[in-house]
Amino acid sequence: MRLDRRAVVLGLGGAAVDAAPLGVALAALAYDNPEDMYGALRQQPAEVLALGESRIRVVFADGAPGLDRARVLRWVQTAAAALTAYFGHYPVSDYGLLVIAGPGDRVGHATTFGYAGSATRIHVGVDADEAAFHRDWVLVHEMVHTALPDLPRRALWLQEGNATYVEPVARAMIGQLTPDELWRESILGMPRGVPGADEGGMDGTQAWGRLYWGGAIFWLMAEVAIYRDTSGRSSLRDALRRINRESGGNRADWPPERLMAVGDAAAGTTSLQHLYAAFAERRVAPDLGDLFRQLGVGLNAGGQVVFDDKAPLAALRRSITSR
Ligand SMILES: [Zn+2]
Repeated sequence: MRLDRRAVVLGLGGAAVDAAPLGVALAALAYDNPEDMYGALRQQPAEVLALGESRIRVVFADGAPGLDRARVLRWVQTAAAALTAYFGHYPVSDYGLLVIAGPGDRVGHATTFGYAGSATRIHVGVDADEAAFHRDWVLVHEMVHTALPDLPRRALWLQEGNATYVEPVARAMIGQLTPDELWRESILGMPRGVPGADEGGMDGTQAWGRLYWGGAIFWLMAEVAIYRDTSGRSSLRDALRRINRESGGNRADWPPERLMAVGDAAAGTTSLQHLYAAFAERRVAPDLGDLFRQLGVGLNAGGQVVFDDKAPLAALRRSITSR
């Protein structure tokens, strides 16, 4: 189930914890060091996908024996299409993807780096079928990480939250997820990001629920704040596109304050700067029930998603997943 799979450890330049069987763990060790990943991307044969001005270099680590290459490349193309839909173009000029084959029937963990070029190392089970690739969210999540500048460690929640928030939106934009699925996951997942009574601001948090879902709550609230402050003229997507263009993606190192200021300049507001200051420094416990009511989305007694198109933010909710 997808929500459980989100518990797979996704790293951002950190050490991934490997809970996989020994065979996978040994294969992973070969490229655990990011220098080895960059070396493989430079030296091993690559399949190059051209997307407008951008190119994606897919390297099958050591030949990735057992993997269906055509299937893997279709999966990469589809993920790239989701990113292109969201950002208006593929978000980085050069992206390296190291695909490491291992046992299993699904996409495994992944880690993304930027300091020596935008790149991701990802583990793929040789028994993963078409449905497993269709369900996969990990690759789009990692690609989203490359679109924004790298941030200091204290702001990891902004990066994980952004990838958690944008990934299903981008996939919904190309029809890989339905709006129902996106909102169901948000309604079920975001409560995991609400701070406990004894927790403070988001900066420096290490708690998994807060890093991913707490960060996603921030970006959903940013979506609402920009919409309200501009009477619907600008969107979070506009802000993130500007941030992507000005930074060139995760090869750049920015402080979070600059990221917010550039996003606000695109939208003509100060929404992001205000929201960031509040979340970073002190405990913000959002009323998620009220937020979803205003967006006009909820779950009925049977657990099915129901929409209310008369809700005050229903138009925003619909615009989030439309192209
Ligand atoms: Zn991540």
